[in-house]
Amino acid sequence: MSTTRQNVDAAEVAKFDALASRWWDPDGEFRSLHEINPLRLDWVRQHVDLDGCRALDVGCGGGILAESMAQAGATVTGVDMAKGPLNVARLHLVESGAEVDYQQATAEEMAARHPGEFDVVTCLEMLEHVPSPSGVIASVAKLVRPGGHVFFSTINRNPKSFLFAIVGAEYVLRLLPAGTHEYQKFIRPSELESWARPANLALRSSIGMQYNPLTREYSLGPNVDVNYLMYFQRPEAG
Ligand code: SAH
Repeated sequence: MSTTRQNVDAAEVAKFDALASRWWDPDGEFRSLHEINPLRLDWVRQHVDLDGCRALDVGCGGGILAESMAQAGATVTGVDMAKGPLNVARLHLVESGAEVDYQQATAEEMAARHPGEFDVVTCLEMLEHVPSPSGVIASVAKLVRPGGHVFFSTINRNPKSFLFAIVGAEYVLRLLPAGTHEYQKFIRPSELESWARPANLALRSSIGMQYNPLTREYSLGPNVDVNYLMYFQRPEAG
């Protein structure tokens, strides 16, 4: 089932395809993405004024982040390899009135066609679903213009993240469908940074994201043990 030819795991993409119709149900399988979106969008906007920016969202799925960046004034392209979520994302534009250009493509394909064209590239909750996350990071680094901004988010790999992100989130609290994540594919912040550095991306800031089961709310904070985001900048040329 899996293919690494194009740095795409077909089985992973099929999982998201199968759930596509549920993408915009705020109480459905993607509820967590809906709940974290205002937090992560705010964090992006703390670093970059999206108004007037050209933004690319890699692994956009049904477009939760892509649409919100468009609503913040960015000209947004969203790419994903799953057709179902892309179709749902396009349909949702009719409802929201937002404008996003959705395309079926990998980060690698986009990097070959549009090097240096984007002010901002986001790639959230996607690296842990690909065969070679370092390959995606290298492609993202090519897509952003010199001086431009890159945001990644993923899940750390340690006993606590196994307990919280898999046992807790998928089986106890059922925040995510069982089987969403594989522990081996989780990425330590040090690993992410070690792949970004040779791609000429400089780490500017990182932040953790926590879920409080009592209040049932997510929040951002300094603890990167489980979910976290990282902000990089491509240095100005010369
Ligand atoms: N970034 C979105 C969706 C995260 S779900 C958000 O945070 O709201 C992960 C998405 O990555 C899925 O839509 C899946 O189809 C996509 N994906 C997985 N492998 C991919 C690849 N190699 N290239 C592009 N998209 C991929």
